[in-house]
Amino acid sequence: MTHSLSKDEVSLLRKAFRMPSVQTMTSRKTSITNAFVCSIIPVVPPTPEEIKEVLRIFEMTPQDVRCAYCGDKSSEWDHLRPLVIARRPTGHISEIANLVPSCGKCNQSKGNSDWRTWMLGSAPRCPTVRGIQDVAQRIARLEAFERWRKPTVVNFKRILDTNAYSKYWDELDAVVALMEDSQKLANELRSKIAEARMDWDVRPLSSSKITGPCDPSGD
Ligand SMILES: [Zn+2]
Repeated sequence: MTHSLSKDEVSLLRKAFRMPSVQTMTSRKTSITNAFVCSIIPVVPPTPEEIKEVLRIFEMTPQDVRCAYCGDKSSEWDHLRPLVIARRPTGHISEIANLVPSCGKCNQSKGNSDWRTWMLGSAPRCPTVRGIQDVAQRIARLEAFERWRKPTVVNFKRILDTNAYSKYWDELDAVVALMEDSQKLANELRSKIAEARMDWDVRPLSSSKITGPCDPSGD
């Protein structure tokens, strides 16, 4: 029991445990929106020469690809300019002129923000907040990358039949609205379940508080 534990032990034990993060409908809205956008945007694979050129701009070798934002080992290539803003496509696509090597931390933290504002801003885990020393130099390399090639911007409205195109986004909006309704219902059900704790198929009681409806933040 906690009374026999020292403060240090308690803090150590707290750090050792991590409750799995809870997925909610609302926290999934962004991924649903991304799925709608990514399902229609063009994907243009680069040539080996283009990859070589981009690595040269970032002063990297194929053997040691680093995150362009922070310098950690790269685990993915991130869309420098976002594909989605305000639940609609920006026109930017998956092509090497819009992709830079990134670590998962930066990719997650940056989201759909403007890359320069994000790098210099105060978002959790952004390079400035993490105290990355050479942020200015990294920004200069990213600007060199921007100068290298103008990115494609597809005007979807001009290419596509207007009715089909607006129907598609109406469907996304309907899915999101339904998810929001379902989340409200889920919150009600969840509190009823929490209130009925005595009826849960009983395990030894602990004094820890049961968290209520999960944090509906997300976007
Ligand atoms: Zn990074």
